[in-house]
Amino acid sequence: MQDTSEVETFDAAAVNSARVRQPLYAPRKKIFPKRAEGRFRRFKWLVMAITLGIYYLTPWLRWDRGPHAPDQAVLVDIANSRFYFFPIEIWPQELYFVAGLLIMAGFGLFLLTSTVGRAWCGYTCPQTVWVDLFLVIERAIEGDRNARIKLDAAPWSANKLVKRVSKHAIWIAIAVATGGAWIFYFADAPTLLRELVTGKAAAVAYITVAILTATTYVFGGLMREQVCTYMCPWPRIQAAMLDENSLTVTYNAWRGEQRTRHSKKAAAAGQAVGDCVDCNACVAVCPMGIDIRDGQQLECITCALCIDACDGVMDKIGKERGLIAYATLAEYESNMMLATAGGTTPIDPRQVRGADGKLSDRIVSFHPRKLLRPRMLVYFAAWALVGLGLLAALLTRDRLQLNVLADRNPQFVVLADGAIRNGYTVKLLNMIPETRSIRVSLEGLPGGEMTVVGTNHAVGRSFILELEPDRLKTLRVYVRQPRAEVGGRTQHFSFVVEDRSSSESDRYEATFDAPETQR
Ligand code: SF4
Ligand code: SF4
Repeated sequence: MQDTSEVETFDAAAVNSARVRQPLYAPRKKIFPKRAEGRFRRFKWLVMAITLGIYYLTPWLRWDRGPHAPDQAVLVDIANSRFYFFPIEIWPQELYFVAGLLIMAGFGLFLLTSTVGRAWCGYTCPQTVWVDLFLVIERAIEGDRNARIKLDAAPWSANKLVKRVSKHAIWIAIAVATGGAWIFYFADAPTLLRELVTGKAAAVAYITVAILTATTYVFGGLMREQVCTYMCPWPRIQAAMLDENSLTVTYNAWRGEQRTRHSKKAAAAGQAVGDCVDCNACVAVCPMGIDIRDGQQLECITCALCIDACDGVMDKIGKERGLIAYATLAEYESNMMLATAGGTTPIDPRQVRGADGKLSDRIVSFHPRKLLRPRMLVYFAAWALVGLGLLAALLTRDRLQLNVLADRNPQFVVLADGAIRNGYTVKLLNMIPETRSIRVSLEGLPGGEMTVVGTNHAVGRSFILELEPDRLKTLRVYVRQPRAEVGGRTQHFSFVVEDRSSSESDRYEATFDAPETQR
């Protein structure tokens, strides 16, 4: 018989559970989540430290790209239309890399959700992480659940005022730091920080910080679980991705029911007594204000804190951990069939225990090989294919590029000596942070010669040019062909650009137009 004398019981109401859900516009019922202890809480601390660390510190990391490029490791350089990520530099015409990464993130999220349910929501979603951070501050100032409930109910006093003002002041400081960190991704962080504090930054910087400060404070500090329940579309979308083999946080009713706080009395009366001692510890720690014993609910973000709370209770009463656990619907249903003799009796947890009182070997539990389902493999294959494609594109991309735009009005000019001239706008991209000497030449177009407007390059079939590091150079080029060489109304030829010190080159197939009478 379980000894429940050491188990603390909580007067915790599941204010957001499906069975007591309020109408949409009903006033919010406050939740005072108790601090949980256990392996999932420790894992969440670790994830929180890593994600917040990445977010706040990344703009301060430096990466030496030489004198002609910024030295911020991760930078969205809007003014120069560049995205820098450590050694990788993405130009506007390479935005397909960003699109590819977003596609990978999408497949990754599908894979994660159909495997371990809403793990994104429970561990890494910014809303979850910042609410957790704000709760740390709240607990440090106002105490754990009972102290906060007491303080909330107490009339206003100097003590309450000091605690509330301190809490909100620190929350606002965190919110400002959050908004501030965001804009550091878009400009040199040390310079922008100096400009911000001296009032010299652009208005858009202050406006962005103000908007992000407000959203962080309101969403993370004030609205909390309401953002997940009412504003975020993900809980609705993810329902379509779960199947009977997806892991979700589950109350194993097949061993928990019938729940009772008076197990000795119930057992003496011959009643079936489950492992749940109805202590409400799982409800008290839930940041969403729900009771996992009511079954799967849209509000559950699968943060697993109720698993920690319940495992602690099971340890105290000498029962196996896992009354609340990550489980699949398929496992749950087969264990339920065991506990109800194939669905013919009410739950009798004695059916799932052997003569020694231990959980029976017939209980179905999760095995990692169940993750290898066709659906998982398809998601993984799609994710890996996009990743490999991006990697291949990244490793083989050209760093010297040529683009040509032919004049359309006029398409050609007939010169005094009868020669035909076409005009082109030639764009040369040097995508490395070093100066390079390049040769631009014509291929094809017999007798054709180039004149570069505004330069002293000699008229000819090629010219040499210095390209500045990491820059786009635009040239106006006239191509002239003697009348006797004109080979038709439209002739095809190529502009070719070559780096003289490396094997890099690029070419552009262009057309040369002439009037009908020249044929
Ligand atoms: S029910 Fe459990 S897993 Fe779900 S949100 Fe509450 S504490 Fe987290
Ligand atoms: S499920 Fe666990 S934590 Fe929740 S009331 Fe029952 S024994 Fe307590």
